[in-house]
Amino acid sequence: MATLVAAGGIACHGSQSAAQRFDAAQAMGWMRYQVAAGPRVPGQPGHRLVAEWLERELRARADSVEVQAFAHVTAAGDTLALRNIIARFRPSDPNRILYVTHWDTRPEAEKDPDSSKRHQPIPGANDGASGTALLLEVADALKKAPPAVGVDLLFVDGEDYGSFEADSMKDVLIGARYFARHLPTGYRPLFAVLWDMVGGRDQQIYEEGYSLERAPEVVERVWSTAEELHLGAMFRPMNGGYITDDHVPLQEAGIRAIDVIGFENYRAWHHTMEDTPDKVSEASLADVGRLALALLH
Ligand SMILES: [Zn+2]
Repeated sequence: MATLVAAGGIACHGSQSAAQRFDAAQAMGWMRYQVAAGPRVPGQPGHRLVAEWLERELRARADSVEVQAFAHVTAAGDTLALRNIIARFRPSDPNRILYVTHWDTRPEAEKDPDSSKRHQPIPGANDGASGTALLLEVADALKKAPPAVGVDLLFVDGEDYGSFEADSMKDVLIGARYFARHLPTGYRPLFAVLWDMVGGRDQQIYEEGYSLERAPEVVERVWSTAEELHLGAMFRPMNGGYITDDHVPLQEAGIRAIDVIGFENYRAWHHTMEDTPDKVSEASLADVGRLALALLH
């Protein structure tokens, strides 16, 4: 069913050429590669391996790639070596669209029902690898069919390292906050979309509270484009509540940013050892990928 809908969507959406098609099978392979590399927790081997892989794959596709390497001292006093990676298409075009995802994974499965597993790092198949695979595949499609606007793909580090409790958020959203503090002079993308946990099977994606409050026109653009692509069953035009995520520091820096996050149907596996590749669906990635490309053309 999902395949039939996807095929129909491409056929009636004339601006999307064959070259611009989102290759969800390839994206699934990139998701699996990241999980197989091990936890992308700062300081662990999988973190370095995936950073190097991602930079290499992006350099082969984007017009330019910039790496922001920086150190972060945690609440516990540890120093983390972090990397944001930014892939640019049409870098001199003043009209730009920014897509964001986090590529790091969480060091603790604190929500796992089995308390003996709660200090293990999560596999991060949906929470980390799905968004990274999505945007790498967007880069691949833009290499084959260059966009008509400037596009920046920002892969942030250190999103998921520490506590999200309101009074102790020093060690989360680290890369997004670093990027927000070091914006290029005059950098004002037309809009920005954060893609987080976008591969869940049979997922429903609700409008997010901070996005509706601070960039309602971007929510409208994304959800109405989803409707045009016959993705109304996945993209529900209802407020799903507030989620603290990488879009918040970008909004605070004046960027019209929203969060596209498939949280509701993923609650049971979120921050558990069950966030594994079998929970990620090629059909979901295909649909979200088609939307991500349609918004750029
Ligand atoms: Zn997470």
